[in-house]
Amino acid sequence: MSDSILVRITLDSYDMASTGRQTQVYVQIPEVASASWLLSSDLFHRLKDRPWPEVMDVVRDYVTYGGLASNSSATAAWAAVMEWLRDPANRDEMQAAWEADQEQRHPVARKLRARVAELEAELAKYVGHEPTVAEEMAYLKERSAELEALELGAVNGRTSASCGNPDHPTWLRKLDDKRGCPWCRIAEMGGAA
Ligand SMILES: [Zn+2]
Repeated sequence: MSDSILVRITLDSYDMASTGRQTQVYVQIPEVASASWLLSSDLFHRLKDRPWPEVMDVVRDYVTYGGLASNSSATAAWAAVMEWLRDPANRDEMQAAWEADQEQRHPVARKLRARVAELEAELAKYVGHEPTVAEEMAYLKERSAELEALELGAVNGRTSASCGNPDHPTWLRKLDDKRGCPWCRIAEMGGAA
């Protein structure tokens, strides 16, 4: 992944001369610069889950107001990174890189994001477009078909049936019962008698 924007925040002992750990912020911006800075250990928890542009803001404060050992190559890299970040488009790009990085690390976030994308696509269909009467009707038909399916669902192995004659009530029949409407049959018998 050497060709992507990357910020890594780690807590470790980097300086053999000093005891105790420090927070290292490593920044890599392709074709611009890569550099790392050591900050105090207490910054680790403050920085580790922050969006990368905000992490860079914190580092900038430390660079600007001291508290950082620097050498000339780090200073040049820092200047290049800061210059690059002054462009809002680059800042957005770094933010997007952070979001992609978060998704890779957190599968649940990845799934939620996929779901959000689905819902956004669904919503996009209606942007600047009130649902038409036909769409409303189609929606209502779908819902009522679902309800009907529920209502006609098998009850203890039986299912409700109707012959279509509005005067004949629906009845429950076994799934293998092929006999027709009892009210029709009664009427037929009456007619035959
Ligand atoms: Zn009938």
